[in-house]
Amino acid sequence: MKKIAIVLGSSLLAACATQPPLTDYSANSGNPRQPDQLALEFEKADLQLRIEPQSKSLRGDALLTFGTRAPLDRIDLDLDRNLPIDAVEVDGRPLPVARWRNPDGRLAIDLPQRLEPGKHVAIRVRYHGQPHVAKKAPWDGGFVWSQTPDGQPWVASAVEGEGCDLFWPCIDHPMGKPGQVDEHISVPAPLVAAGNGIAMGMEEANGWRTWHWRSKNPSTYGIAINVGPYKALEGSYASRYGNTIPLRMWYLPQNEAGARELFAEFAPMLDFFESTIGPYPFGDEKMGVVETPHKGMEHQTINAYGNGYAKTAYGYDDLLQHEFAHEWFGNQLTNADWDDMWLHEGLGTYMQPLYMQSLRGEQEYFAALMALRARIQNKAPIVSGKHRREEDVYATERGGPGQDIYNKGALVMHTLRGLIGDDAFFRTVREAVYGTPDPRPGNFAPRYGSTTDFMAIAKRVGGRDLDWFFQAYLYQAALPDLQATRSGDSLQLVWKTAKNTPFPMPVEVRVGQRIVTLPMTDGRGSVALAAGDTWTLDPGSKILRREVHVERFQQYQEAQKKKKAGT
Ligand SMILES: [Zn+2]
Repeated sequence: MKKIAIVLGSSLLAACATQPPLTDYSANSGNPRQPDQLALEFEKADLQLRIEPQSKSLRGDALLTFGTRAPLDRIDLDLDRNLPIDAVEVDGRPLPVARWRNPDGRLAIDLPQRLEPGKHVAIRVRYHGQPHVAKKAPWDGGFVWSQTPDGQPWVASAVEGEGCDLFWPCIDHPMGKPGQVDEHISVPAPLVAAGNGIAMGMEEANGWRTWHWRSKNPSTYGIAINVGPYKALEGSYASRYGNTIPLRMWYLPQNEAGARELFAEFAPMLDFFESTIGPYPFGDEKMGVVETPHKGMEHQTINAYGNGYAKTAYGYDDLLQHEFAHEWFGNQLTNADWDDMWLHEGLGTYMQPLYMQSLRGEQEYFAALMALRARIQNKAPIVSGKHRREEDVYATERGGPGQDIYNKGALVMHTLRGLIGDDAFFRTVREAVYGTPDPRPGNFAPRYGSTTDFMAIAKRVGGRDLDWFFQAYLYQAALPDLQATRSGDSLQLVWKTAKNTPFPMPVEVRVGQRIVTLPMTDGRGSVALAAGDTWTLDPGSKILRREVHVERFQQYQEAQKKKKAGT
């Protein structure tokens, strides 16, 4: 998620002023992992979370099991220091208070004895308090304590930018996924807690309901709390891969009509992704969607949906389709570092035009691409090649590419597809997502991927050098510029990149009634023009490149915005 940046109003900030601020460490997901964390194998997390809507607080009891790749004397976890810790246990024995500390969100636990490779340790952390309230979820995240139209509690978490450490002790880094997570979410009866993975049952006692959910390899920010007076729609989908996928949607009772229409979109969306990319990665758990008080977020197998059942001329819910795309690009293929976030968002965003092309044809495909094209800013490269935290990517004021990881990322994928052809393009994406060209249910698991991995796969599968392509589109801010000059009876074309790197991108030119393909191997080409010939560069709209008219449009938009703000 996280399209569209939102600038916070001071009234919103004031509303949260009673909460202590997050430390910089807790507010940012993806800080470099401590050496101890790099050695850890996070096997299981068993989370008991009691959600108390009245006091906007929670009680947590987390039992975390780790293995290690190196001898460890200490375990470093991440947990917001504003959630006071009641007790820490190691392998069932209470740890003296002096043996653990959490000054700034880095919870350091001194082990009573060294943990050797091949051994396991169980850490239990009991804590409580008011989790950080989202200022504007999901963009500025945390907990959302909302109410349904008839005044019942409606609670959600959305912590992509800030991380899992806002409500449970975890390793807040994209590569900090536990192998298995059990959620035991207690809520006042008769509320429903819709969770990640498989429903393991519900127990009710003393006016509280405890909902048990189990998921495998959930992404760290994909673990979510969703509580409300939900009703559920249930169905199943017969996959082209032979398995049957449970379909579930939790919705507010007053929105049943909209929920039913949305639910009817699940099967065609699944079929598109399964036929275009490959098997739904979590088919043995579920395709799950829950109605939320915030716009949306790609929580694994329990996608947050808050698009209000809006309709567009395209005839499908693009927010649901975008969030659902993240089950492939985000939850199955997870960025190794936040610097690789375009893999989630560029590919995830490209899935909406692609869905339209598959479902309806070229008009919707190119219309959707043009809407993205008009928003590309080109102020910073999509990829820095260095370690970055989530906000370093999203915040343009920190030098990040911001929304370009969505819009430009999608158009770069469109351009790559045009260059190497559908077969090589989709094979590249499939291998990047699954780690195999032949994914079938049961023969793959969620994996981590980086920009360099993606580039290597594309080069191998495409059977050609593509360094020039990725260098220009991912590592340079400005777009390649196709400069055309007419001289006498010919049209001279030359590619210019910001750093003068080579750009041998073939170009089609329409001249009169003919289409001429120029190989541009040295970045130059020319085509003969007869008197009176008209011409179009790239008439099939295959190449993302600098367009002066788009820059003028954006300058105009900017000026209008300033004018409006000034009046
Ligand atoms: Zn997204």
